[in-house]
Amino acid sequence: MDENTSVELMYNELKEQAAELFSEKDAAVVDKAFNVARERHNGQRRSSGEPYIIHPVAVAKIVLDYGMDYQSVAAAMLHDTVEDTDLTLEEVKKDFGTEIAALVDGLTKLGKVPLDIKDKEEQQAENVRKMLLAMSEDIRVIIIKLADRLHNIRTLNFVAPQKRRDKALETLEIYAPIAHRLGIRAIKEELEDRAISFLDPVGYKEIEDELSKQGKSHKEFLETIKKQIGERVCTVVPEAALEARIKSVHGIYRKMYMQNKNFDEIYDIYAVRIIVNSVIECYDCLGIIHDMFKPIPGRFKDYISTPKPNMYQSLHTTVIGKAGIPFEVQIRTWDMHKTAEFGIAAHWKYKLGLNGTEKFEERLAWIRQLLETQKEADDVKDIVMTIKSDLVTEEVFVFTPKGDVIDLPVGSTVIDFAYAIHSAVGTKMVGAKVGGRIVPLDYKVQTGDIVEILTSSQPGKGPSRDWLNIVKTSSARTKIRAWFKKERRDENIVEGRSELEREIKRNKMRFTDEEYQKLIETLAERQHCATVDDFYAAIGYGGLFISRVMPFIRDEYNRIASANQPEKIKVQDTSKSTKRAVGEGVTVEGIDNCLIKLSRCCAPIPGDEIIGFITRGHGVSIHKRDCSNVPKDITACEEPERWVSARWLTGNTMQEFKAGLAILCESRVALMADVATLLADMRVMINAINTRELKDDRAYIYLTITVKSTDFLNVVISKLKKINGVINVTRSSNS
Ligand code: MN
Repeated sequence: MDENTSVELMYNELKEQAAELFSEKDAAVVDKAFNVARERHNGQRRSSGEPYIIHPVAVAKIVLDYGMDYQSVAAAMLHDTVEDTDLTLEEVKKDFGTEIAALVDGLTKLGKVPLDIKDKEEQQAENVRKMLLAMSEDIRVIIIKLADRLHNIRTLNFVAPQKRRDKALETLEIYAPIAHRLGIRAIKEELEDRAISFLDPVGYKEIEDELSKQGKSHKEFLETIKKQIGERVCTVVPEAALEARIKSVHGIYRKMYMQNKNFDEIYDIYAVRIIVNSVIECYDCLGIIHDMFKPIPGRFKDYISTPKPNMYQSLHTTVIGKAGIPFEVQIRTWDMHKTAEFGIAAHWKYKLGLNGTEKFEERLAWIRQLLETQKEADDVKDIVMTIKSDLVTEEVFVFTPKGDVIDLPVGSTVIDFAYAIHSAVGTKMVGAKVGGRIVPLDYKVQTGDIVEILTSSQPGKGPSRDWLNIVKTSSARTKIRAWFKKERRDENIVEGRSELEREIKRNKMRFTDEEYQKLIETLAERQHCATVDDFYAAIGYGGLFISRVMPFIRDEYNRIASANQPEKIKVQDTSKSTKRAVGEGVTVEGIDNCLIKLSRCCAPIPGDEIIGFITRGHGVSIHKRDCSNVPKDITACEEPERWVSARWLTGNTMQEFKAGLAILCESRVALMADVATLLADMRVMINAINTRELKDDRAYIYLTITVKSTDFLNVVISKLKKINGVINVTRSSNS
């Protein structure tokens, strides 16, 4: 078929749809937008070789399918014109009016990366910031942007491999979470599935194969339960609609690879959805389901009476079906269904004053909060951290005593909860009660917890610096730092100055007053501080790590030294000092009083040669020296100053440690029993056990065991290796 004909065909479908949905006048605007876009993009081609106009038409179609207005559809049609063709914004304004021009302008700005920013991470941060700003101004911009990304990732296989990976990763880390937050499920799931298929084609295919291998039985299973449920439900709620589906590949992928589960171990592959007319009918249906099948305890969730923060409402329950196969049932009304599928796109219209305003505002509150966080953040990269850490991780839903729901990332503490309610609550916090009982400040909140924050309004009360090591969310961390920044400025200046001077002295560097003054001024400027005091204050409240400025000071010192006295010996980075931090049976040299954590990637145990890494705001993580995450040559790596020496404490402080083992073996039924018997004979405690079948009749057994030392662990390993059928035994991360 001729290229132009296929463009026509594609567009005609959209045109017909627009004619049905919009008035004649509005549909004409969409049509005009198409003609302008086609004319301007004429001659341009996509990486696939297709005419460029295919892309804007496809994006406009997605936007239209999501029930957006004609202005959005027209803007989607024009979204790449101002950036990529000679069409100017003034012309758009003249031909299409200010509203559409503003949308196109928002989209154009989102696409542009400032040239002066070279650092990739900073570029991404800048983009995210712009997206949030655009969202807070007009949410339609971001819905069009999501549609743009969706079409781009659908056609990503025509792009060069490196760029493909970058785009896929950005999609997974930034765009999918935004779609999730806006409640647009279908876009979120497709973005995730497609991103994974590019990032890990092998893993993705494995799941696809598994699904298609069992394709027929999956279908049969789904059809049978759908029929069974349908027959019973229809006697009570005749108009109920039923859907049965297999959950998204990405969902299965996450469970298989991140939680190290077998395909057969994943419970929620199947989902049945029942859509009814009223809330009462929802609960009626729930009763029928629980009467028909055995519910799995702890899996029932009532998101109707307490909606998720992204306004999602439904009843969820997991039940056991035929042959012991569990499946999830979601029950909701049509209204709830619309919100679940289209999210904010289903609500944005009401912004103009009808009902639903509150819901809309609640969703936007999230965006505002992120923007606030960003304003207070010292480093533009923090905002990307926020997006990645706060959005990608799973959430827990926690209640205030009044019954309001606060959602937090898994691992959040009561301090995070306090700050999520309000900065003032966090600042005045002195303790917390969960379910009426006092808990420590590092208590990690769980879904369903009712948390009461105890506050004191005594003057002088404020957060403690230790909290920075306890909190999980970057918004709480930012707020704590902001407090120290504001309330303790004089203290911070003094603290920062003496900290820096101590560090310079410790490194045996000497400057004349004049040299020192000049050095500090340059440093302040480099760190974007308005004054030297601001610079000291930033160090004082922990917004700026000394380790980040030390390399520069050292260079400066060496420069001055070699200019003045060429024979003078240059300073090296001597980490010898009396300062040390202790924790987890480890001491770290050169740092005092900070959180120490054994890293999960290599799970070091006493006896292993180890090294510490100063993380951003999470204390020091301890790795094995030969861990793949540790650079072979520290001095040649990017941030050598962040690697610090660490060693195990000896003597009676030695505790027991968990070690992970991976046993590669022939898949012989009795083998697991042999392994368990051996460990029991050696009095070794098994913390976790997991298996994974390989294609060639072999299998992996993953074990987490508790041992006292490396020596003993080595004995365990050598005995395991002697078991008949075991091919190899290696250390792995704790699972
Ligand atoms: Mn585009």
